[in-house]
Amino acid sequence: MNVMVTGGAGYIGSHAVRQLIEAGHRAVVVDNLFRGHRRAVPDEAAFYQIDLADTAALAGVLADEKIDCVMHFAALTYVGESVAEPLGYYHNNTAGAISLLRAMREAGVRRFVFSSTAAVYGEPERTPIVETCPQKPVNPYGWSKWCVEQILRDHAAADGRFAFVALRYFNVAGAAADGSLGEDHEPETHLIPLVLLAAMGRREKLTVFGTDYPTADGTCIRDYIHVEDLVAAHLMAMEALQPGDTRYYNLGIGRGYSVNEILDAARAVTGREIPIEHGARRPGDPAVLFADSGKIQRELGWSPRYRGVEEIIATAWQWDREHPDGYGD
Ligand code: UDP
Repeated sequence: MNVMVTGGAGYIGSHAVRQLIEAGHRAVVVDNLFRGHRRAVPDEAAFYQIDLADTAALAGVLADEKIDCVMHFAALTYVGESVAEPLGYYHNNTAGAISLLRAMREAGVRRFVFSSTAAVYGEPERTPIVETCPQKPVNPYGWSKWCVEQILRDHAAADGRFAFVALRYFNVAGAAADGSLGEDHEPETHLIPLVLLAAMGRREKLTVFGTDYPTADGTCIRDYIHVEDLVAAHLMAMEALQPGDTRYYNLGIGRGYSVNEILDAARAVTGREIPIEHGARRPGDPAVLFADSGKIQRELGWSPRYRGVEEIIATAWQWDREHPDGYGD
């Protein structure tokens, strides 16, 4: 298939481009390079520096490249930033998706794989979270993605041949097993990369956001999934999509780790001291999030190859040691 990958120069998108090419698809990357890295895009992929707001340019690429399916990764993804800058989040994530869907309608492209998020569930009433759990986001990031899911439902109802899958990611981590692609965010806000920066001595310490949560050790619990496992699910979902399909799947490994457990795992993997300080809760953070990913396992036969957080951290640690300056741009 000819697949447009928005955000293909970003962390998850670049891994998707790689897997698409390895599976024999043609990858066409669209990225505004706001936080993406041109060097993360392999030579085999076509590259267009386009912003999602530019509907006409998107429609042109969709038509020229004879795109069969769009994988939509391009988004702003920081919970804390979304609380401080909600308009930017609705503009990029929600209005950006509308622009892209309009371009797809113009070009007659009707297959869509959407990067959604566990943040659509907000503070869940029970865990593990299944897809039918109530959706009540607790931060603008979650709402900006929730809105897109709603728009997709309505759009699919209006156009019976439009098909989409919304993949609700839990916490994505790790780097390519061959060490060639990894996480390089500026600013970096995610737990595992920050822990490893502290292990390398590039940050003085890690601040643990909240030690008074209603969990066994008082720190937040999350479900960490390896980026390559996550991306593999996108290819399986794309290939399974039939005209008119509307699908929703959680993607996690089904096991929750507290912030303290991540610190212990990182100490074990790196053999280094990781200095910490205890800080206040971060606004918008639910206490416990972990997935029941049984639905995608049953329906598509997906299963994660990385089943423990130490293995996942080990791939990130390899990337960090081999690329201390990330992509160097
Ligand atoms: N976290 C932390 N210190 C940090 C960054 C994150 O304690 O410097 C915690 C955060 O409160 C959350 C977990 O680590 O409970 C995962 O946060 P991250 O930002 O990696 O992902 P999110 O859950 O926001 O998608």
